[in-house]
Amino acid sequence: MELTLLGTGAPDGLPRPSCPCAVCASARGPWARAATALLIDDALLLDLTPGAMFAAARAGHSLGAVRQVLLTHPHDGPAVELPAPLPPAARVPDGQVLTLISGHRVRAVAMDAPGTGYEVTSPEGERLLYLPPGAAPAGLPERVERPYEMVVLDVIGRPDAVARLRAAGAVGPTTEVIAVHLDHDARRARRWSGGSRRPGRGRCRTGRRWWWASTTRCRTCRAGCW
Ligand SMILES: [Zn+2]
Ligand SMILES: [Zn+2]
Repeated sequence: MELTLLGTGAPDGLPRPSCPCAVCASARGPWARAATALLIDDALLLDLTPGAMFAAARAGHSLGAVRQVLLTHPHDGPAVELPAPLPPAARVPDGQVLTLISGHRVRAVAMDAPGTGYEVTSPEGERLLYLPPGAAPAGLPERVERPYEMVVLDVIGRPDAVARLRAAGAVGPTTEVIAVHLDHDARRARRWSGGSRRPGRGRCRTGRRWWWASTTRCRTCRAGCW
């Protein structure tokens, strides 16, 4: 599974428009974050944000092969213009499972806050869990079968969600935990999202995968490759 982060910021992005706070003031250049959106294997787009098409292009990808667009939370403000080739964006009722032409399976997961989480299984069987801002899963089984390969969530807003996923075995030692929906109240975010490294594009030293934005470690070799 190849994950491309088209943004890692809160729904309003970081810096927030015309916010005078110190965090917003320092969110410039590589530290500016578009609202969170995930592109998975170029086939599935989770959350549609302004500028997603250009973010994909900057990361060396295209939205041209996207077969499904799913939203985790209702978007306030003006509707996001849908780039022409994209299928209409949808939210899926909790518990429903979609199978995409690309072979990905997506299950909608109930949240304890407004929004929908998505569990994505790639054709190769790798699993990713993506949660909306400020949300944690509503009720987890005592013990899940095996940990996810990747969990992408609001670590700063809901640290308890990580703890609960860990307790249930959904986050294990090999799980990549990626902090997203980063807002201006989140100085600690840097610890979770790249340390002092510049967010940007990197190639794994194994040469196999590209990463975009602010993952802490590389999914391929489990080290900081860039
Ligand atoms: Zn601010
Ligand atoms: Zn690597």
